[in-house]
Amino acid sequence: MPVLHIEETNARSVLVPQNPPGEPVSEYTLNPYSGCGLGCAYCYVMKFPFAREHPQAWGEWVRPKMNAPFLLGKARTKIYGRKIFMGSATDPYQYIERKYRLSRRCLKVLVDCNLKGLTVHTRSHLILDDLDLLTQFGSRLRVGFSVPTNDDRVRKRTEPKAPKIGVRLNAMKRLRQAGIYVTASLAPVLYCQPREFAEQIADAADGVYFGAMDYTDRTGIAAMPNARRYFNGPAYRELVAELKAALIEVGMLKSEA
Ligand code: SF4
Repeated sequence: MPVLHIEETNARSVLVPQNPPGEPVSEYTLNPYSGCGLGCAYCYVMKFPFAREHPQAWGEWVRPKMNAPFLLGKARTKIYGRKIFMGSATDPYQYIERKYRLSRRCLKVLVDCNLKGLTVHTRSHLILDDLDLLTQFGSRLRVGFSVPTNDDRVRKRTEPKAPKIGVRLNAMKRLRQAGIYVTASLAPVLYCQPREFAEQIADAADGVYFGAMDYTDRTGIAAMPNARRYFNGPAYRELVAELKAALIEVGMLKSEA
């Protein structure tokens, strides 16, 4: 596996304001790291200019924003009572979090900000390290756990550096046992065993975010011709439909009819 280049940096800002219409999931995104050591093949972040312009390939570099907790502390009044989404362009619980603890230190700032809502998005069980802080947000917290497949052979091809599926499902269950609302993010759906997968999700999550693969250009998938053909073909569309039906059957999605 390639070496991970770690470039400690001081960021100019750590919050990005969002202006979506309607009731927004977040008013600010927060990313304690730039880049991501997990390097999923389909990651949409690798299409952004800052990622394309980096000399190392996506997944081989990460910049810990060393001053992220400090900047967040300075922005306390701005984010007081607001909604924050943590982990929109990086995984806040990638493995180097064990070294830097930037996500943890950001959470320590956020617990005093009387947030209206906090969403933390990850695919890593290291989030359990911060259970003591996460539980302090009560019902204002949502954890979005990315689980695009239940098949570890697929995970090995598309996100080999990310935790195994069973490890993720167990982490989701632990979060729920601690009273935290967990959404399973099945987006983009990858090859899986639909019925079994739907049951596993029903056992591990409170809700589901579901989405088919709709971007194979300029991601690692573009360099995997067989995978690209698969995602653009009828077998994939059938799989997505079958998974959706199975999720409806187990009560995790509502029927559109
Ligand atoms: S964990 Fe998230 S941010 Fe990191 S490479 Fe995978 S999809 Fe991208």
